[in-house]
Amino acid sequence: VQPLKTVPEPVTRLIDELSRLPGIGPKTASRLTFFLLRASSEQATALADALRDLKARTTFCEICFNITEASPCVVCQSEERSARVICVVEDPLDVLAIERTREFVGLYHVLHGAISPMEGIGPDDLKIRELIARVAEGSAEEIILATNPSLEGENTADFIRRKLALYPVRVTRLARGLPVGGDLEYADEVTLIRALEGRREI
Ligand SMILES: [Zn+2]
Repeated sequence: VQPLKTVPEPVTRLIDELSRLPGIGPKTASRLTFFLLRASSEQATALADALRDLKARTTFCEICFNITEASPCVVCQSEERSARVICVVEDPLDVLAIERTREFVGLYHVLHGAISPMEGIGPDDLKIRELIARVAEGSAEEIILATNPSLEGENTADFIRRKLALYPVRVTRLARGLPVGGDLEYADEVTLIRALEGRREI
């Protein structure tokens, strides 16, 4: 006999879409889909709305590439922030972590990832060219490379340091002490403050 299609298309469609997310395999995708199938309409609709608003109501800051509701972002627009220091991070959650320390008064530059040959991510896939352009035309005196203390983060910092050697800026790296292989966004505030204060020229 011909096997019958017993699972409706919307179900397989959601499983397929969820499977495409990082860290979610087909098994987890099925589990989430069947959870939502049994959840209330309100819960499923709230998730759908959040997904739609994520794209519809956010944009990237034209200066620092952080996510924002309006460009330029609140940091780039603030008159209390100093354009002399730019802190370079991998993703928007790192900005959030550094803002929580209340120690940093400069501006940011969000790369949106790190160089990773394993994952096929090269320098051109990140906002590195935009950073160099910012340094070339801007008033920055110091660039803090606050990429993650992982292999990819270190390689990315090294790549940018070499690119910036042509410009009259101080290039610094966060002090060690952050958990190696860890993620900046998960570091506690005291550790981050120490890493910022102890940064050194590279
Ligand atoms: Zn900005």
